[in-house]
Amino acid sequence: MTAHDDRLEPLARLSTGRFESVVSTALNDHEFALCLTHDVDRPYKRHQALYYALHERSRMGYHLRTALPDRNPYWQFEDIMTLEADLGVRSAFYFLQEPHLLADGSPRDWLSLEKWIQFLGRYDVRKEDIAAMVRELDDGGWEVGLHGSIPAHDDRDRLAREKATIEDVLGNSISGGRQHYLRLDGTQTWRHQADIGLRYDASLGSSTEYGFEHGYVPQRPFDDAFVEFPLTLMEVALPDVSDETDRAIEECERLLVEAARNDAVMTVLWHPRYFNPDEFPGYRRCYRCLVERALEMNAWVGTPGQFYDRLVTAVASSSPVTKETRQNP
Ligand SMILES: [Zn+2]
Repeated sequence: MTAHDDRLEPLARLSTGRFESVVSTALNDHEFALCLTHDVDRPYKRHQALYYALHERSRMGYHLRTALPDRNPYWQFEDIMTLEADLGVRSAFYFLQEPHLLADGSPRDWLSLEKWIQFLGRYDVRKEDIAAMVRELDDGGWEVGLHGSIPAHDDRDRLAREKATIEDVLGNSISGGRQHYLRLDGTQTWRHQADIGLRYDASLGSSTEYGFEHGYVPQRPFDDAFVEFPLTLMEVALPDVSDETDRAIEECERLLVEAARNDAVMTVLWHPRYFNPDEFPGYRRCYRCLVERALEMNAWVGTPGQFYDRLVTAVASSSPVTKETRQNP
């Protein structure tokens, strides 16, 4: 159950029409906000190596070589931290704690090839190297959040267990995250997230389309303190990043201009493995240009959790018109 937090009361009681003005107060004198996020799906290149070796025969040797235990091209945490620290920004990393196929799955699941492929890419956030990285990110000012598994999107208890496992490793509470495969069950998933104490979600969006389809500012689906940050851009939705990187950068620039014109809060997702230029050429450069350009355009750049805190502060500092008058002093 949600721990009561008095600090969130003003946001929870804010009238619907006033939320947009609170978002502008939170922006302060920035033109717009850019929230940076990374879903940690597969930090090890294992089963994918075999998959890519079979599907990209010309680079079969490369894919098989990079699957060896001492070579791990999908492990990009340190590189991303260096890149972002260099730009003076921080991002959010959402960690996935998927069910274990043999311990949690049914015998029917054991016969499913698809389930095995999913399972072979699974990691455990409690494992030493991942756990150490979770704490290192937190120590450095990065946000650690929950990347809820597919079965957890309609299973509140499972979602609560995944959150508790990550918090246990982190030694702190987490404030939000995103569902794997952007899987939402109507507003029910948000209800589960709010019930287990998450303050925001960032799953509303698409892996094939990008833009402000879901509006320029975050939403409050229940008119209370729970906030949805719509996903503006997932890297895989950009056209042909590897072959035409400059064109992809222009598309990012177009989104930034639209964000600036509309005082928007824009959220982007780059999966960590896409930062490896040998595996996914162009994506790292595109990300760097996106952040640099946003900073040049006077954007506030940070994590959804940090922006959520700015909303809480903004509402507390604005005039106390709420949807109902407080009964008790
Ligand atoms: Zn995912």
